[in-house]
Amino acid sequence: MIILMHPEATPFQVNNVLAFVQSKGWQTCLTRSSGQVVIGLQGNGQPLDPFHIGQMPGVADTMEITERYKLASRAFRPTSTTFAVRGVTVGGDRLTIIAGPCSVESRAQLLETAHAVKEAGAHMLRGGAFKPRTSPYSFQGLGEKALTLLAEAREATGLPIVTEVMSPHKVALVAIYADVLQIGARNMQNFDLLNAVGEAQRPVLLKRGPSATVEDLLMAAEYILAHGNDRIMLCERGIRTFDNRFTRNAFDVNAIPVLKQLTHLPVIADPSHATGVRRYVQPVALAAVAAGADGLLVEVHPHPEQALSDGDQSLTPEEFARLVVAVRQLAAAIERSVG
Ligand code: PEP
Ligand code: MN
Repeated sequence: MIILMHPEATPFQVNNVLAFVQSKGWQTCLTRSSGQVVIGLQGNGQPLDPFHIGQMPGVADTMEITERYKLASRAFRPTSTTFAVRGVTVGGDRLTIIAGPCSVESRAQLLETAHAVKEAGAHMLRGGAFKPRTSPYSFQGLGEKALTLLAEAREATGLPIVTEVMSPHKVALVAIYADVLQIGARNMQNFDLLNAVGEAQRPVLLKRGPSATVEDLLMAAEYILAHGNDRIMLCERGIRTFDNRFTRNAFDVNAIPVLKQLTHLPVIADPSHATGVRRYVQPVALAAVAAGADGLLVEVHPHPEQALSDGDQSLTPEEFARLVVAVRQLAAAIERSVG
């Protein structure tokens, strides 16, 4: 259930409602929507009589949320969530572009990429330090060394850092350096990790699992939200289908407007992992923006043919700069803007 307070409800009335529902064994989560306090109930408290709650002073309305995801649902928070990452706003009318190499490989590679993507108009820098690789023999990332390089690149460019954390035990370490903690597709349902990033109270980029449904993704976000951490970007990065002959994954463009309807959380698209092929990155990026995505996550490498991971899908800095120009033009046509 959610309880919608009157716009002019007093703090005393809000506290009175909180105390009552808490006495019935419910956990509460407070949010504000269009100036009104909204109280979300979580957990397994005793049944409540909506009529009784509706009569309490200051209460405007009550609503049952039938979806399994509660805090993530638009019913709980009708206005879209926006949040700032070191001054960069995520969500809202402006698109956020996150770009950088798949993996941090060296100081020179990272700094060159960071300056180039900044110059082209990116708002945040991505780069993997701990890499989830299919093969244990593939490059696994430079680990903490990469985190220090990312911090150096942030210092040099002012771009906030997005990097993946793969294990709950590493959250504290990665959070020392990262502005946004990325949960990779293959870890989307690592519930210990979701709980750990929820507790870390850091912005999170949550990628959709390769065979996760839209509801699975929202339930994963719900884990993080249940810790009171609502700074979450959902990321569509392509799913597995029967046909991977020409592209690595199938970009689920449907998921973008569907998620925008079901949840208040910002939705970004990763056309790099969705396609796995450099030449398809721009068209799919534009499709995502046209479908209503709030931003893009794009892999860029100064020498893609030498990349230690995901070179085939990495754009050169020049290609990335052209992509940003095209995204700006499209954004203007749909009454949005970039950054
Ligand atoms: C990545 O962003 O480099 C990555 C590993 O992505 P995904 O988890 O979507 O495969
Ligand atoms: Mn990658």
